[in-house]
Amino acid sequence: MQVVKQNKILRVMLAVFAAVIIVLSVALTVFSVKNNRLSENGAQAGEAYESLSEALGSEQSARAQEASSYQAQIDAQNKAHQSEKDALEQTIADLNRQISIKRAATTQPPVTQSPAVQTGTADLSGKTVYLTFDDGPSPRTPEILKILDQYGVKATFFVINGGKYNQYMKDIVNGGHSIALHSYSHNYSNIYASEENYFADLQKISDVVYEQTGVRSNLIRFPGGSSNTVSRKYSKGIMTRLTKEVAARGYVYFDWNVESGDAAGNRVSAQTIINNCRKVPRNNAVIVLMHDASPKKSTVEALPAVIEYYKKAGCKFAALTTSSPVVHQRVLN
Ligand SMILES: [Zn+2]
Repeated sequence: MQVVKQNKILRVMLAVFAAVIIVLSVALTVFSVKNNRLSENGAQAGEAYESLSEALGSEQSARAQEASSYQAQIDAQNKAHQSEKDALEQTIADLNRQISIKRAATTQPPVTQSPAVQTGTADLSGKTVYLTFDDGPSPRTPEILKILDQYGVKATFFVINGGKYNQYMKDIVNGGHSIALHSYSHNYSNIYASEENYFADLQKISDVVYEQTGVRSNLIRFPGGSSNTVSRKYSKGIMTRLTKEVAARGYVYFDWNVESGDAAGNRVSAQTIINNCRKVPRNNAVIVLMHDASPKKSTVEALPAVIEYYKKAGCKFAALTTSSPVVHQRVLN
């Protein structure tokens, strides 16, 4: 009985033991499976983290590279702009130097014999220049006509009796210029002694012009101009009377408002004549007094530069007619 009881207890204990072993081994298996999974997950997460940080690192370096290449571009552009700026500054300096050289040249007196037109020009546009030549015809007349023709400029000739040179009167008219009356004798003591003397002399030159050209001119200029005071010596108040009387007889008389200065003597330099011709009045009608008498060689010499000056300043040229604007000086006798 004792032995049977003992066997029974032993069997039960064995069974319990076996059951415990089974439970333990099942638990162990479950635990190890779970543990395995966790470590797998951990490894995956680690890998992901690594690749993510790797990607971030390469992104950062790409950005850094991009930034440095932009900086390089900006630097290159700045450098280009700087060299452009330097080049422009150089050009400006060169131009300023040239301007100062030119300024110095124009303020210095001209040294050349033949006068040249200076580059500095005034704006005289709107003005009409009437070049007038007194005391011809003479050997200077064809020389002047040639220059006028070269420039396509029309002028006015207030003629006297030029003897054998009267033949040039025809050339004046054929050239499209105005022929006008100055005096037959140009002798002040005779013509200003009386109105009768004056008109007798005027008729004589009018007839010569008519014979030579077929033109009966009624444009006149008083010897010495209407403001002359020489006449007072021969007849007091004669200019006051003559200026009225010529108009009553159908003549139009012209004085001048630019004096070339060639009447001051026979050795007036061409440059002086040019400089005088630049002194232009406010008046739109610019009547320039010049002379084509035989000794006036410097007038011929100055003429091209005078014409060029007025042309560059924008002036027009015209010959005087009875409808031209008159320029009258103040009558002083
Ligand atoms: Zn004269």
